[in-house]
Amino acid sequence: MKYLLVLILGAFFITGCSNPEVLPDIEISSKDTYQVLIVGAGAAGLSAAAELEKEGIDYRVIEARKKYGGRLSANYELADFPIDLGAEWIHEDPSILAEISGDPNILDAVEVIPYDIQQMLFWNGERLEDHSDEIENPPEHKFKNTTWFDFYDNYVVPSVKDNIIYNRAVSEIDYTNDQVIIKTINGTDYAPTEIYQADAVIVAVPITILQQNYIRFVPDLSAKKKTALNQIKMSAGLKIFMTFSEHFYPEVLILNEYDEDFPYDEKTFYDAAFGKESENHVMGVLLVGEPATPYLNLDEKSVIELLLTELDEIFEGKASATYEDHIVQNWSSEPYILGTYTTDIDEKLDQTLRKVKQPIDDRIFFAGGALDSEEPGTVPGAYRSAVEAVDLVFKMFK
Ligand SMILES: Cc1cc2nc3c(=O)[nH]c(=O)nc-3n(C[C@H](O)[C@H](O)[C@H](O)COP(=O)(O)OP(=O)(O)OC[C@H]3O[C@@H](n4cnc5c(N)ncnc54)[C@H](O)[C@@H]3O)c2cc1C
Repeated sequence: MKYLLVLILGAFFITGCSNPEVLPDIEISSKDTYQVLIVGAGAAGLSAAAELEKEGIDYRVIEARKKYGGRLSANYELADFPIDLGAEWIHEDPSILAEISGDPNILDAVEVIPYDIQQMLFWNGERLEDHSDEIENPPEHKFKNTTWFDFYDNYVVPSVKDNIIYNRAVSEIDYTNDQVIIKTINGTDYAPTEIYQADAVIVAVPITILQQNYIRFVPDLSAKKKTALNQIKMSAGLKIFMTFSEHFYPEVLILNEYDEDFPYDEKTFYDAAFGKESENHVMGVLLVGEPATPYLNLDEKSVIELLLTELDEIFEGKASATYEDHIVQNWSSEPYILGTYTTDIDEKLDQTLRKVKQPIDDRIFFAGGALDSEEPGTVPGAYRSAVEAVDLVFKMFK
């Protein structure tokens, strides 16, 4: 029986965590009770935890994977500077870092650089066109010597890290009774299941996880909530970094034609070392939405071969001739993430988000990068949504 359960759970994860309704009843090995449980230790879950910590609330963060950060992730090996495998740009005024860290002087400690690129080329299939006059002004910012992951790691995580429970994927949230009961299954290696109880729960998982019913709600979510959830679009995608012995590429090179129905689709090659203290030639590649499709199910070697072939056509063989190394981060196949960020932002989104964020029974609250109406699909958005959810939790406790 034990082995059967392991096999069933194994199949569940190998198939990309298919719908948990097929799961057998799970064994309960313990029951711990807290004031608040947060599901997911990405930017939103970590920020919510930091807010609760400040107020002395008894909470835990339950994270499916063996590490915190979610779509904040860094690589320190490929180049002589740390590389953002997920979130990379600071899309709004850098003073947001003071808000997130709670330190008004944070910009004295964390150096950010304006992303003031001068060169943006477009490949029309036959030749390169200069689109530098379309570069956004004022520029966005990036971290100079660090990453978004490092920022959270240094300034948010220290106060909350002892309250994170790893390797527990929440499979059910039961709010039938006064106490909300959360059932978990093991995130990666099928350890015994545990359940937890709380007065309130903040659900801070990617929207894809809710859309694909990986968490069963008891009673079920309302039809209105489900419809609103499914109206948010989080596109598939990957990020690739390649190092070369020569710098043959422009600051930004766009390969996909702008489609006004899919304005957030990306097939962008960029100088990832721009403004960094680096002697390396590092090209970043961002593939999001439809342009990502041909790469999504390829193995790493084939992804690189395909990209080098495309670059060779544009730069007359320079890419293959000077290629050194790479890293591929496929966010669509990353368990418990399953996509990139919000890519359908229009005037109706605000209304949709209000329905998604509406707490259930004053006990289940929602947060996440996708749920911020100011800058949906960003790290600051994840932070703001967390603050909003925690404010609602405090109201409930009063
Ligand atoms: C390629 C890419 C580029 C990006 N670029 C930028 C950028 O330049 N600037 C910017 O601001 N933003 C960017 N973003 C978006 C930004 O990374 C996200 O909006 C933000 O990090 C989302 O945080 P979150 O906490 O809502 O979700 P996540 O970071 O996805 O965290 C959710 C957490 O929930 C966990 N989880 C999932 N299911 C369960 C479960 N059942 N039980 C327990 N835990 C679970 C996951 O493991 C994960 O740790 C980018 C994202 C990607 C993928």
